[in-house]
Amino acid sequence: MRRYSSRNNEFLSTRYTNLKPFLPSLPPPPVDNEGNPVNPEVLRALFPDGMIEHEITTAPEVDIPGEVLDAYRVFRPSPLVRALALEKALETPARIYYKYEGTNPAGSHKSNTAIAQAFFAAREGYAGITTETGAGQWGSALSQACCHFGLDLDVFMVRASFLQKPLRKTFIGIHGGRVHASPSNLTRSGRSFLENDPEHPGSLGIAISEAVEMVVGSPDRCYSLGSVSDAVCLHQSVIGGEAILQMEEMGDFPTEIIGCVGGGSNFSGLAFPFIEKTLTGGDAIRFTAVEPVACPTLTKGKLMYDHGDASGLTPKYMMYSLGAGFVPPPIHAGGLRYHGMAPLVSHLVKLGMVTPAAYEQERILEAGRMFARVEGILPAPESSHAIAAAVDSALRARETGSEEVVLFNLSGHGFLDLSAYGTA
Ligand SMILES: *Cc1c(COP(=O)(O)O)cnc(C)c1O
Repeated sequence: MRRYSSRNNEFLSTRYTNLKPFLPSLPPPPVDNEGNPVNPEVLRALFPDGMIEHEITTAPEVDIPGEVLDAYRVFRPSPLVRALALEKALETPARIYYKYEGTNPAGSHKSNTAIAQAFFAAREGYAGITTETGAGQWGSALSQACCHFGLDLDVFMVRASFLQKPLRKTFIGIHGGRVHASPSNLTRSGRSFLENDPEHPGSLGIAISEAVEMVVGSPDRCYSLGSVSDAVCLHQSVIGGEAILQMEEMGDFPTEIIGCVGGGSNFSGLAFPFIEKTLTGGDAIRFTAVEPVACPTLTKGKLMYDHGDASGLTPKYMMYSLGAGFVPPPIHAGGLRYHGMAPLVSHLVKLGMVTPAAYEQERILEAGRMFARVEGILPAPESSHAIAAAVDSALRARETGSEEVVLFNLSGHGFLDLSAYGTA
């Protein structure tokens, strides 16, 4: 019985796959404060042209630029692993597989889009990038990508994480990035939140406002977003593109695909290429998106037009949202504390093609500890949400005796989140 798919270079995707042209309908377009569709020209004040092209393309496939592919080759294709030890521990007839995105130096799937975005910024002559980060994974991935392409980087980091996760700051600093606790006094939006509360813990929405404000005032800098946007979901499709070929090599095909969701990008990355398969005549698959009970965007939020940031500087997107002012409690899964959700993932939930689920922190940390003990990889607390749901599916299969094939995304490792597992 095979345990690993080979890391055969033939499995490296040389194209991003775009789900949009295959969908029965698309989410309504982003709008401005007056409710008019946003002109892509407005986005040019923030994003490199290459990103805007990826945001709006309707082509079914998009070639990955050579420089980006070269950088991917350091860690792609990522491993696809059959979790035999986990199956044994659960005494389940289900077959469980995971795609492991933690093998790159920054430790999560976020490098897949960080590399593409830094490449566009460098190619179009920007001196640097400004961004936000929650727990620090996005800042880490982007710092490495900026270092690779010779770009300057400013990162607004949610203050609660800035204080709790000093190691991510160190990682970003090693790669030449500057980290600012957000809310900061460097921007008008930051100062307005600090005036109300000098100890404000921050939120991803506030950090986005600060990053956007800094970019609007500096023509030699562009803005980068680590999740949510259609372009980011497009970049992450390399995960599912590889997984389809790797599952084929293993001689199996999933009946369920599971991913954790913060902004929706790692889930999209694994799921969208498989959704395309189901829409073009392939076998049915159940798609499960897992979020924390503490930030229940899909399970308790409303589908509505809402801003991506806390100060109303970004366009409004049609998405499930808890409200742009939502300040989530300080759970360990910092990457899952966003008030909104990718418009594409929101749309698929609305269409009934993706089923959301919410898990309590205690349950996911226990699932993460068990996974570490049997499979030998300490997962990021975010990824442990997907593990907990995979465990539940495997246990259901034990009760019903059904032959389920569960594939989940192990979006990152938890070596910089050890304190989460220790203090639970
Ligand atoms: C950021 C992050 C997430 C959540 O973001 P998505 O855009 O929903 O994927 C999940 N897992 C890890 C390891 C992360 O760093």
